[in-house]
Amino acid sequence: MRDRRKTRQVMVGPVPVGGGAPVSVQSMTKTDTRNVAATVEQIRRLEEVGCEIVRSAVPDKEAVSALGKIVKAIKIPLVADIHFDYRLAIQSLKQGVAGLRINPGNIGGADRVKRVAEAARERGVPIRIGVNSGSLESALLRKYGRPCAEAMVESALGQLRTLEDMGFRDVKISVKASSVPMTVRAYGLLAEATDCPLHLGVTEAGTSWAGAINSAVGVGILLSEGIGDTVRISLTSDPVEEVRVAYQILKSLGLREAGPTLVSCPSCGRAQVDVESIALKVERGLAKFKEPLTVAVMGCAVNGPGEAREAHVGMAAGKGEGLIFRGGEVVRKVKEGSLVAELLAEVKRAAEGFAPPPKRGGAASRHGRGKKDKGE
Ligand code: SF4
Repeated sequence: MRDRRKTRQVMVGPVPVGGGAPVSVQSMTKTDTRNVAATVEQIRRLEEVGCEIVRSAVPDKEAVSALGKIVKAIKIPLVADIHFDYRLAIQSLKQGVAGLRINPGNIGGADRVKRVAEAARERGVPIRIGVNSGSLESALLRKYGRPCAEAMVESALGQLRTLEDMGFRDVKISVKASSVPMTVRAYGLLAEATDCPLHLGVTEAGTSWAGAINSAVGVGILLSEGIGDTVRISLTSDPVEEVRVAYQILKSLGLREAGPTLVSCPSCGRAQVDVESIALKVERGLAKFKEPLTVAVMGCAVNGPGEAREAHVGMAAGKGEGLIFRGGEVVRKVKEGSLVAELLAEVKRAAEGFAPPPKRGGAASRHGRGKKDKGE
């Protein structure tokens, strides 16, 4: 892992982005923004799973007029996503949004961008220059012949220049493509050209399965290079899944702690219990915990006890029964039918007494695991 790239910091409402702040997790609503009740309900579900910034599409004036009501009903900052009509951006600011996303490929010339920036500056609201490979300016498509990383970066830097020439520096940038290599290349070039915080994502990444993998590869490569300050995972799925995948990527790189980490063996011919079904039930049961505990579900006595001892709480199954571990010690032996319930009960006890490990000094071992819980 490279050290995180040094950037300027912008504030999206109360959430710092860049400048050494934790990599924040965002998502986008999939409701009709004009439907305030449905949009608020979706944002509240996103808040529950830890979404820190949310964006909504603002296609028309009716959507603009819904924004104020949405802002009042939610806890996290709302970003207005604007294409084509710069006036919608200015009107959205009056509704109290905490951020704007504009697309240089379709927002119009420098005069319009300046009007938006002046209104944003009056309210201390940042702007994201959101370049998408599918909607580049036609002049850049003519110059490069096709969408490519260089064209996306030129698009972003052109609009950044317009904003910075008027002294507006509250800017973050994204350069998203559906191609992972193009996305990685574009962000790499951009990171060398500016100190703006970068919003990472692979656009139109796919369904919850393929999209999660494409995003994990693209976003994971960039984060491991120290690039990226906020993340949105685009999935053709419930946006709650986007947030869960984002946190899983960040957890896997040790960049964020977000609830328990499940270590489960793949199972093999030695297992004498249904490891998959146990692991899935445990995973569901862990969703309600916030503590960064490591929980191991292991199928037999070969690697099982070792991994289970390394975790805060673990189980190693045997024939028709299993051992429950906590803090590296066996706490009880239980029948197969009670393994899930007993393991989760032990997790609850560990969570109640959980003290976060110190920031430095041996707390984290592999995969960001915490120090063994020796009974707190
Ligand atoms: Fe197989 Fe046991 Fe390893 Fe699971 S822990 S994969 S059951 S050897």
